Amino acid sequence: MEVAERVAALRKLMDREGVKAYLVPSTDAHNSEYLPDCWKRRQWISGFTGSAGDVVITTTKGGLWTDGRYFLQAEEQLAGSGIDLHKMGTPDVLTQEEWVARELSEGQKLGIDPKLLSVEGANKLSKALKERGVKLEYISTNLVDELWEDQAPPSKAPVIVLDDTYTGESVKEKLDRLRKTLEDKLCNAHVLSALDTIAWAFNIRGNDIDYNPLVISYAIVTKDEAHLFLDMDKVTDKMKGALEGLVQFHPYNEMGTFLKDLKGKVWIDPKTANKWILLNLSSSVKTYMSRSPITDMKSVKNGVELKGFRDCLVIDGVAMVKFFKWLKQAVPDGGITEISAADKLEEFRRIGDKFVGLSFTTISGYGEHGAIIHYDPTPETDVPIKPEGIYLLDSGGQYMNGTTDITRTVAMGEPTEDQKEMFTRVLKGHIDLARIKFPVGFSGKQIDAFARRALWDGGKNYNHGTGHGVGHYLNVHEGPMGITPRDVGVPLKAGNVMSNEPGYYKAGEYGIRIENLIVVQEEEEHSSEDFKFLGFETITQCPIDLNLVEKDLLSEEEIKWLNDYHQMVYQKLSPLLDDEEKEWLKHETRPI
Ligand code: ZN
Ligand code: ZN
Repeated sequence: MEVAERVAALRKLMDREGVKAYLVPSTDAHNSEYLPDCWKRRQWISGFTGSAGDVVITTTKGGLWTDGRYFLQAEEQLAGSGIDLHKMGTPDVLTQEEWVARELSEGQKLGIDPKLLSVEGANKLSKALKERGVKLEYISTNLVDELWEDQAPPSKAPVIVLDDTYTGESVKEKLDRLRKTLEDKLCNAHVLSALDTIAWAFNIRGNDIDYNPLVISYAIVTKDEAHLFLDMDKVTDKMKGALEGLVQFHPYNEMGTFLKDLKGKVWIDPKTANKWILLNLSSSVKTYMSRSPITDMKSVKNGVELKGFRDCLVIDGVAMVKFFKWLKQAVPDGGITEISAADKLEEFRRIGDKFVGLSFTTISGYGEHGAIIHYDPTPETDVPIKPEGIYLLDSGGQYMNGTTDITRTVAMGEPTEDQKEMFTRVLKGHIDLARIKFPVGFSGKQIDAFARRALWDGGKNYNHGTGHGVGHYLNVHEGPMGITPRDVGVPLKAGNVMSNEPGYYKAGEYGIRIENLIVVQEEEEHSSEDFKFLGFETITQCPIDLNLVEKDLLSEEEIKWLNDYHQMVYQKLSPLLDDEEKEWLKHETRPI
């Protein structure tokens, strides 16, 4: 079936259900960032493959709403489909709700699968539509699934049990802590639906989604029981043994029945729980709407998890060093492209101890492609890397003992004065954030500007956040905290693992980003009775290209930080390198 036929078939089902429009969101029932193939419904109905973008189909029209990253791609992929592109964030573009309200008359209905809207999203949407006289209709069967003949079955990958030697905390201890929090809020139960919260709470990992080691599941934790809902074929004997007496297993589709039986006060995370969960609760149940306590518990890494991060970052750094040494030697001979370079880096990572897979699609951007913030090279866009200009590489790995995310920008030839100046301003921001000490209670939002100051001094900035939380052998992006000027006002806590990634992008020419992982730590010497301070420890081990550094722009303290950092990188990585690699690294980490 072509896209136009699929849309026509969907319209027949819309007619059967009595709705004049149908919303196909980009997400799944677990509000996932990356989707398993079986749930890429928006891609199937529209042909658009980007990671973000909702589709609405009416009886005569279709619309896709996506952001600036995907305008070009969406235009190409939607051509001939009858679905129009609505460019979010551009002047005069209607929002989905405004458009639906304009296309539908008062009293008509927009249909939606309640599993694909968060509780919060459903509230916002129904309110916006109500103001315009349009109704929201929850349809329990997914209309796209009804039509999708060759829809992939959900993954059957067996569940991986992660030992306490990796997690540092048993499932029993985690459930005890969770139950204490539930008690404090007078809640009888908590419904977990975000897949990374379930993986963390039960010390399990999976292989159901690319890049994110997750198991498709729901969970309910009550005062004295824990129920896990998943494909029972995936439950191994090891898993049964590890969770014996702690957890009861049920088929994934029995979740609804359990929800109906819940009593008392139930903790629901309105951002991640879907509307279907709420619709299944009995009317006598009271809800406590707040961020899942697991999200906060998970973000504070324990000593074992932190050691795992430090260890896998050494292994990851070795792969990076072997790669860059190879790249600098191979590029002048020709034949290396953005994609082949990314593949080579994956080969180097693959031989690393405890490596499982990549943590996201590698951003391998040469020259002007470096200026496209989420550039993901395809065979159509792939270009050769030449011995000139600069190359930006943002990549990461999943290891049994941690998750990595690193960006390096390197000169492939003699850099220009402008490139050196901008690289050094980005580096100053990176160092200034790495060195800052701030009082307990401050959020990432309040310190974000330190990473931008040197760029602001030069009349420049970058249009993305400076840092995100990183999961432990989990999602490379995790909350609740962030270092960004946008609204993430959650105070940083000792044990948070985050990225430090300022950048600068000159459209049509080049992109620069320097990204290390950092751990929030207590700064005892800097603290007093009155004020307790926090700071960061940088744990990524990989040289920063000195060919792009303009020493005169750095302060004494910044030079000291860079030299100390490079000394640490050499000490940690050199024991794992051969003599030639050691010599190369020695030069790359020379003091300036
Ligand atoms: Zn990154
Ligand atoms: Zn990152």
